[in-house]
Amino acid sequence: MEEGIANAAAKRERVKVPAEVQAWAVEVAGRAAQAFVDLLWPLPPGCPACGGSLGSPRELCPACRDRASFPAWPRCPRCSRPTVSLEGAGLACPACRFSAWPFGRVFAAAPYAEPVRTLLHRLKFRGERHLAVPLGALMRERLASSLEEAELLVPAPASPRNLRVRGFNQAALLARELAQGRLPVREALARVDGGGSQLARRTRAAREAARLRVACRLPHDVRGRRVLVVDDVLTTGTTAAASARSLLQAGARSVDVAVLCLD
Ligand SMILES: [Zn+2]
Ligand SMILES: [Zn+2]
Repeated sequence: MEEGIANAAAKRERVKVPAEVQAWAVEVAGRAAQAFVDLLWPLPPGCPACGGSLGSPRELCPACRDRASFPAWPRCPRCSRPTVSLEGAGLACPACRFSAWPFGRVFAAAPYAEPVRTLLHRLKFRGERHLAVPLGALMRERLASSLEEAELLVPAPASPRNLRVRGFNQAALLARELAQGRLPVREALARVDGGGSQLARRTRAAREAARLRVACRLPHDVRGRRVLVVDDVLTTGTTAAASARSLLQAGARSVDVAVLCLD
């Protein structure tokens, strides 16, 4: 009996499917399921932000895409934040010069402002999962350079409470839209919150850092790879930093971050 189990396990080991093929199969299955859902519950036509006929449920209209843009100031080459540096363009912002982020670069598609803010709110708090499609399309359009070096996309982990309440991690939905089956997406990180006393910490970032623990549960998938962590919003950078640290500890070669928006 035990031998039978061992043989079955050995067989499973022999037919191990490459990660890229798995990603492709998940992508195809996901698209087929989406097509079926679209057929049963068609989405309202037009731009999901303004309803305009120049957009579609899959893509914001040109005017809304324009509104979802950073001001035309110079931006920090490290974290993408608009920055006015007295020393000239092309220099890192003060936050990046004085803090040792464990990740390399932050790629951001839009500022945390209208119309993206409301769309993200609808996705996260009203469960309108279909909005990950146009928001992911915006990321794909603007963050193509973030994918050039990446070998693996890893969504930033949601808190256990949010996962329970929402039933999904919006970062994972956005990561799949960004990858579109061309790169593997692995939900390799999990949040293990609850440690660290927050009382003595003065800043919001320090309180978040004290609370946040991130564990890598798929170290084999991560080891030796250039990883792109995907998240919806980057505010203090605490989640991205904890994610990057965990991935680097698990053997990732490098970690960059791609976000829908910067707060
Ligand atoms: Zn629009
Ligand atoms: Zn910066």
